[in-house]
Amino acid sequence: MSFDLQQLLRPHIAALKPYSSARDEYSGNEGIFLDANENPLGSITGQAYNRYPDPYQSQLKQKLADIKNVSSERIFLGNGSDEAIDLLFRAFCRPGIDNVIIMPPTYGMYEVSAGINDVPVRKVPLTPDFQLNPEEVLAAVTAATKIIFICSPNNPSGNKLLRESILTVLRGFQGLVVVDEAYIDFSDEPSFIHALDEFPNLLVMQTLSKAWGLAALRLGMAFASREIIAILNKIKPPYNISGLTQATVIKALGNTDKLEQMIEEIQVQKEQLRLQLEKTAGVEKVYPSHANFFLVKVPHAKSVYQQLITKKIIVRDRSGVYHCGDCLRITVGNQAENEQFIRALQEILATPIASGLEN
Ligand SMILES: *Cc1c(COP(=O)(O)O)cnc(C)c1O
Repeated sequence: MSFDLQQLLRPHIAALKPYSSARDEYSGNEGIFLDANENPLGSITGQAYNRYPDPYQSQLKQKLADIKNVSSERIFLGNGSDEAIDLLFRAFCRPGIDNVIIMPPTYGMYEVSAGINDVPVRKVPLTPDFQLNPEEVLAAVTAATKIIFICSPNNPSGNKLLRESILTVLRGFQGLVVVDEAYIDFSDEPSFIHALDEFPNLLVMQTLSKAWGLAALRLGMAFASREIIAILNKIKPPYNISGLTQATVIKALGNTDKLEQMIEEIQVQKEQLRLQLEKTAGVEKVYPSHANFFLVKVPHAKSVYQQLITKKIIVRDRSGVYHCGDCLRITVGNQAENEQFIRALQEILATPIASGLEN
């Protein structure tokens, strides 16, 4: 059996005639444009926002193609990675029939998006040290399994998954394997983008929300075969990336020096934060991280989380998720933020209330 994309695709999507936008039917830049019911006078801000943006984000994709060293036909851009996740469900998973596999603890949106699309989720937990067990994952595959979601470096644990384990899943599964690399810029691990030629069933997701510092602009990227990307393009909302985002990102992508500088600085702060966390009395475990956050085990994590909030320090309480009992997820902040956080944490952990005597 080999990978058969047409077989995987929902039949009505294969048959779908996509919306044809005004900009699809005439794509030149010059002319008198009376085709899209836009405002001919300009925009209310005075900036040139009155025309609909390029639905295919051609200029932006060309820049990304150069940076990522992949053909622009193999790039899909979404309104955040979340849009790509949702479109994958809609393209490949028949509600109530097909299923997907996730490996808790992992990024929450896979399951939420599955729920929105009424797609059953099969869960194969990571091992207690947050590695994936490829044999168990492949054993959980049924005839109705369409997508396996792998997150590496993993959120919320922070570690990277062993490359060989991911490759075993890619080789052993005839559906789509999504490798979510939201944190790849903080890792020494090479991207799975370079494995796209080898695996027609691979889709790699990245985002500008983390290392690039562009979370507010909402730009998620998916890299896959031309055929898979064509399917996502066929079903996406026509103007899913705003003109403001496209123009801003086109400019920002030239500034890779600044990106490198920021990553460097975050790595310095991350190492400092790790040392301070390990020195803090009461901290039980700081998990190894290839991302810009740490999963940290403390006694009575929920209470610590609440007390941090009263000091206006907000971390993520992950104590309720698989293998993460009493764990908080702490994003690496700037130097001053990390210092304040550590001081607050030390205060909290040094008091009997935090050590849990109240409950
Ligand atoms: C933050 C994050 C994303 C990014 O989502 P956007 O919608 O692109 O902001 C994707 N996957 C994981 C695992 C994340 O932690």
